Amino acid sequence: MAGGWLAEAAIGGGLITAGFILGLVAGNGSNGAVAGLALYAGWHLRNVLRLGHSLRRDGDTPESLGLWGDLFERLHRARREALAGRRRLAQIVQRFEDSSAALPDAAVVLGDGGRIDWCNEAAERLLGLSTPRDLGQRITNVVRHPDFASYFNGQGARADGVEFLSPVRNDLALHAQLVSFGHGRVLLVVRDITQVQRLEQIRRDFVANASHELRTPLTVVHGFLETLTSDMAAVPQRWQRPLELMNQQTLRMQHIVDDMLILARLEGDGTRGMDSDLDVPTMLQSIRGEALVLSGSHGHRIDLDADPALWLRGNELELRSAFTNLISNAIQHTPDGCVVNIRWRAHGGGALLEVQDHGEGIAPEHLPRLSERFYRVDASRSRALGGTGLGLAIVKHALARHGADLRITSELGQGSTFSCVFPAGLSRRVACATAAAVDPAP
Ligand code: ADP
Repeated sequence: MAGGWLAEAAIGGGLITAGFILGLVAGNGSNGAVAGLALYAGWHLRNVLRLGHSLRRDGDTPESLGLWGDLFERLHRARREALAGRRRLAQIVQRFEDSSAALPDAAVVLGDGGRIDWCNEAAERLLGLSTPRDLGQRITNVVRHPDFASYFNGQGARADGVEFLSPVRNDLALHAQLVSFGHGRVLLVVRDITQVQRLEQIRRDFVANASHELRTPLTVVHGFLETLTSDMAAVPQRWQRPLELMNQQTLRMQHIVDDMLILARLEGDGTRGMDSDLDVPTMLQSIRGEALVLSGSHGHRIDLDADPALWLRGNELELRSAFTNLISNAIQHTPDGCVVNIRWRAHGGGALLEVQDHGEGIAPEHLPRLSERFYRVDASRSRALGGTGLGLAIVKHALARHGADLRITSELGQGSTFSCVFPAGLSRRVACATAAAVDPAP
């Protein structure tokens, strides 16, 4: 910079001095100095114009001497660095675009109001988006599917995502999830789950077919065993115990096969037969009667407190099976003479069934896994009680088909409460004449 100032002083001083000397030679030194000064100012003006021109056109940086030379040199360097930065940025963007194009999942960046800011190639293939045509459009205007729209509009947990058919190919099953990032921005990630669903269907079909195929031979074997054991006196002594055990075990296998078939049906039935008006209080009264028979000499007390005017819309067989499982569990997994409370009431716009027992309770580490198939806190005890380990899985599936949740609270030594929470819109109040009086007495 100091060099620039020196050169500048030399140029300015040189021009004025040269003008002065030439002026002296011509007879007027001061006019010559003024002319030198004007030349110096003109040189500055020319450089200003060259600078303006260069900045406007973004073209080559001019060269010059003195301070202007310094300035042009710095400008040139800054431009070179900016260009290198731009190239680096372009390379990063290119790499990002290449990798996002190679992604099998669709990624869509959404701005204000769900407007599309950017999307990758998979989004074009899976969702039918097209760039630049759809940029700035609302995603729900382009991806038109009621399930996607209600998920996008905040119905259902964000983390769960939503499954729907591709709007461009109805043989493609998709799973979409919204992820927030930055300031008010949302990333929509969509996966093709066609293959996963196909495998899941194969698994379901296999379990359903295998259970179905096992049912007939089991019925035959169990039928013969039952006949044989019904007249033990005619059976040789050494065969009596084995036959009795075989009879018990085939019965257990029959229960498992039956439960597996129920589960397979619950998984595969779609929304068929979900629209009956169910008199839940009367249903509970009948289940209570069956549970008292099941308890028999074990002497459980079962108190039913049901709102007689609260009915539900749903599938009778499925809900009966779910409620029966909960109530028979309360009998089977609690000591003799325990009290079981069944409560049926309105709750948060919907309805709530609670089955509460005062048995030994369940340790907290088991609670999250309790409704998994074949999960048992004490497997040998459950088997001895004739349990299949599928009861709560059936309950969970039957409730899920009604949009309801199974909640379990339990404390060791205090007992457990199994709650079925039905959403608003499924329950309805009936007139008192329609509602049967529910008699809690045994
Ligand atoms: P199971 O046929 O064994 O009853 P479930 O799926 O109905 O199968 O229940 C799974 C397990 O949950 C049972 O084996 C038992 O350990 C536990 N369980 C269920 N209900 C109760 C309850 N009311 N009290 C204590 N434990 C329970």
